[in-house]
Amino acid sequence: MNLDVNTLFLVTIYVEAILGLLLLFAWAQNMAIRAVAWWGFGHLIRAASVVLFGMYGSAPELITIDLANALLFTAFAVTWTGARVFDGRPVEPVYLVTGAVLWLLVCRLPVLADSVELRSMIASGIIPAYTWLTAYEFWRGRGEPLVSRWPAIFMLFAHGALFLLRTPLASVLPWSPTNNNIFGSVWLTVLSFEALLFTISIAFILLAMAKERTELRHRTAAMVDPLTGIANRRAFLQEAGVIAKRYASRPRPTTVLLVDLDHFKSINDRFGHALGDRVLEIFAAATLESLRATDLVGRIGGEEFAAVLYDTNRDKAAAVAERIRVAFAKAAQEVDGRPVCATVSIGVVHCEGVVLDVPELLAQADQALYFAKENGRNRVETASLDMLLTRKDEATAPPAVAVAATAAQNAA
Ligand code: GH3
Ligand code: MG
Ligand code: MG
Repeated sequence: MNLDVNTLFLVTIYVEAILGLLLLFAWAQNMAIRAVAWWGFGHLIRAASVVLFGMYGSAPELITIDLANALLFTAFAVTWTGARVFDGRPVEPVYLVTGAVLWLLVCRLPVLADSVELRSMIASGIIPAYTWLTAYEFWRGRGEPLVSRWPAIFMLFAHGALFLLRTPLASVLPWSPTNNNIFGSVWLTVLSFEALLFTISIAFILLAMAKERTELRHRTAAMVDPLTGIANRRAFLQEAGVIAKRYASRPRPTTVLLVDLDHFKSINDRFGHALGDRVLEIFAAATLESLRATDLVGRIGGEEFAAVLYDTNRDKAAAVAERIRVAFAKAAQEVDGRPVCATVSIGVVHCEGVVLDVPELLAQADQALYFAKENGRNRVETASLDMLLTRKDEATAPPAVAVAATAAQNAA
């Protein structure tokens, strides 16, 4: 295959410019991810630098070499800044221009200005520095589960490595231009072609990352309660269903807790809705601290929460419920300097040796919760057969009888 370097230059300019505009267009459609704009500008600046490189021979080297390289380094620095912005890190204005400034200074030193090899070595250092820094930024943000992060890291690392190896490889492949024409260099053709493939791949990978993040955020927003950061009702029931299916063939002792804040309406009335929200946040935090990472917890209503404790025996489950009650009562005694003294009532239901049916267990825990409220609140009640029968009777009995049954229960 014989690639004409002039054609490659033209194609590269065209492709860089189109990709830059494509990224800017994508950003204009979803401005929430600002990094896409940085990446768009990175490509446009690279297109400008290739225009200057392409003018070699017909314009002074100050423009076609010095300025062109300064622009090229800035383009890589802009892409790196985009990676920082993507993961919520601040822009570093000094490091953004360091590569270009360093290069321009070096070009002005007579000892370096005359040596193509030396200058190419310096250029071979600046580009890997920025590409590897970009890869490093993406790697640092790997806590966010984006699959497209990994090809981005790989591409950037490989591109940087190729540039770093440029000088040693140049001694294997002919660097010196034939007939004093730099465009005749095989090496330049190889590099230009690789740069073209890199720029196309990285633009699409970066776009894919931005798209993947947007989708992940939408998915998360649909599943997470924005106030407390724990699963919402839908996510809780969905995840409970997944657990039930996973362990259907080997059921283990499981406990379901249903929690309701006591007199929460009155807390809102006395201290305001915003403080009520703080109390809900405090409850979620206290609960998460009292549970294992493997336990499932969710906000299933306004001030109602539920948890599934898989593989937990009866005594342990009762202790966990009590721990949540005490931890919350302590944490919510005083909120933002106000004497709130919020408490919770908890209904507990335990099952062993049967396939998990979380909606059914929630209904039973609700009966226990009812008794916890009836028995004075700020307490834990465990569902028992008696309790379930009593509640069933109440539900079917006329109201007067129901009141009598409750009174009898209270007296007992
Ligand atoms: P009980 O002890 O019987 O549970 O009494 P309660 O006042 O907690 O129960 P009730 O169901 O009468 O009131 C629940 C209150 O929770 C009413 C509602 O305004 C409040 N609430 C629901 N969601 C939120 C929320 O997101 N933020 C705040 N601040 N309040 C909420
Ligand atoms: Mg309630
Ligand atoms: Mg309540």
